[in-house]
Amino acid sequence: MADMRMDPISGKWSLIASGRSARPKNHSFEPATPEDAGENCPFCPGHEEETPPEIDAHPKSGPGWQVRVVPNKYPAISPDPLLNEKADRLFRAMSGGGRHEVIIDSPDHKKSLADFPEVHAADVLTMLQRRVRAMYEMTSVRSIAPFKNHGKVAGASLEHSHLQVIGMPALPPNTEIARRNSEAFYRETGKPLLEKTIEWELEQEKRIVETGKKGAITYCPFASRFPFQTEITPWPAQNSFVESSSEVVAAIGSALVRSLRRIKRLLNDPPLNVFFHIETRLEPGEHDEAHHWRVEIVPRLTVMAGLEIGAGMHINEVAPEEAAGKLRETRI
Ligand SMILES: [Zn+2]
Repeated sequence: MADMRMDPISGKWSLIASGRSARPKNHSFEPATPEDAGENCPFCPGHEEETPPEIDAHPKSGPGWQVRVVPNKYPAISPDPLLNEKADRLFRAMSGGGRHEVIIDSPDHKKSLADFPEVHAADVLTMLQRRVRAMYEMTSVRSIAPFKNHGKVAGASLEHSHLQVIGMPALPPNTEIARRNSEAFYRETGKPLLEKTIEWELEQEKRIVETGKKGAITYCPFASRFPFQTEITPWPAQNSFVESSSEVVAAIGSALVRSLRRIKRLLNDPPLNVFFHIETRLEPGEHDEAHHWRVEIVPRLTVMAGLEIGAGMHINEVAPEEAAGKLRETRI
């Protein structure tokens, strides 16, 4: 069976083509993420002087830290004052006006979020909230992208578990499209798009991995671009990540840890990306209540090929209904 499905938030079509992969074991990862001993790791306790000066730490700076924040040594965007350089009518450019930080989310070189107690994830997300709040104090920052790369294939240059947070003076393309679609839906119906999407997913049930007993819903989206793509949303949905209560943050932290555990067990610790779709700076005329935050997990089991790179359309060989079923059945 193959069908074309559109995600209402990203506006992107996917080709759900489960018939292309006859054997599910094609989608488990091998070999497992290669291990290094971590002897020269700048993120390990005892090597604190090898990172740029610390910005924040939990529960405290110095020995015993559980979460530590430092500037990225090789920032993708500079913190200099924002310069809008307009080359000509066609090419736009700007420099500075951002921040690029690293949240070292584990003191243990070998352990990632999937291996920690659920309560540890709440501490990590609370720290992320603090950093997002601080970044939005920079007037040039319009959008913040927090993400995690796990495994070399997924872009992790250091094995030691960490998150990255990039504050930018412009909206990244996917964020801009999602904002536009959510605004248009809200103007048309008076309802928030993500809330309606989740209500529909709850009605259909088959793509739900976990229901929101503890304030979070975990599901494989209808038009998943990747096999085992998983999303976690606070339920009831929340407009602002920064303003979300400690209970909501704890519920999302727990759901994130459980999802990462399911994926690790079911798919043999594959490389993966976690992305936090959170609020942007509100523009005049935009409706705050039209937008909600969510977390996306994408296991990197396939390579992007011609259609994905050129047309931006993904072929997904594992239907999200099948993926959700397998994740639900995985004992953690
Ligand atoms: Zn380390």
